[in-house]
Amino acid sequence: MPRSFSFFLLSFLLLFPQTSWANLRVVTDITPIYGLVAQVMKGVGTPSVIIRAGSDPHHYQLRPSEAANIEQADIIFWIGPELTPWLQPAFDNLAADAKIISLMKIDGLTRLAAGADSHVHHHEDKHDHDGKNEAGHHNEAGHENSGIDPHLWLDPENARIWLQEIARTLSLYDPENAEIYRENARAADHKIAGLQRRIARIMATSRLMPVFAQHAAFAYFENRFGLEIAGTLYDRENEAPSPGHIAELHQLTRNLPKACLLAETHLENNVIASVFSKTDLLVMALNPSGAANSPPLTAYSDLMERLANGLEKCSTP
Ligand SMILES: [Zn+2]
Repeated sequence: MPRSFSFFLLSFLLLFPQTSWANLRVVTDITPIYGLVAQVMKGVGTPSVIIRAGSDPHHYQLRPSEAANIEQADIIFWIGPELTPWLQPAFDNLAADAKIISLMKIDGLTRLAAGADSHVHHHEDKHDHDGKNEAGHHNEAGHENSGIDPHLWLDPENARIWLQEIARTLSLYDPENAEIYRENARAADHKIAGLQRRIARIMATSRLMPVFAQHAAFAYFENRFGLEIAGTLYDRENEAPSPGHIAELHQLTRNLPKACLLAETHLENNVIASVFSKTDLLVMALNPSGAANSPPLTAYSDLMERLANGLEKCSTP
């Protein structure tokens, strides 16, 4: 073995003394991130996911077994406290050499200010006391909040940047499999690029009926593909609508013959029934945090595929 290489290996082992390469324990926060990491780890290992698919990441109760699983992690990939503020304390008991990657902070991402998207009809912001609607207004004592909309995964370009970062991070811990990680990331990128082209094609060639969303999660998707969500029922933290916002929605749907709704699991059917009482409503089951029945390897691409299929169904002939 050449001297320089053995020196490199030695310094590497000193840097990461307790890691067992073969059984890298990788934990992810939500289903779409789980899907991206699972694709990069394909053939080497399988990550785990904290928030059960179909659950709401903004409001979630960690089970003791889930907290215990987090404590065992070597690497954690998560969006950040803006999406899951309740998750941060669970990182307190991690091993000192565990690596926590907040995907919101990676260079090169498209980041949108929360609530900056003026055509999305949020219900009035509880924290917005002086009528302004700008980044940073959520900075209250005890909250770590950058004012960035945390739903970054709904821009596939962001997901593609993460694939590179995930491969790079895994390779640092497990250089033996670096080539596999790199190749897996390349294949996953190729697949997402194809879905992105499909969605762009649908947007270019279809006339969409007004599309509503259950919660204000889609700003990144709108920004990437030029979609305009006509209205949202819940806000970006997935809080139920206020009476004022319901009245606003009634105004929006008053003379609307047809509309499409991207709906999640925990839907207030009475609100929908009243808001869309005179509208021929097409309901698409689509959870922006991923579907419960997606296998890990397709958890991200399934989401984009469902969005593409949904948009096709929301097209008027
Ligand atoms: Zn959300």
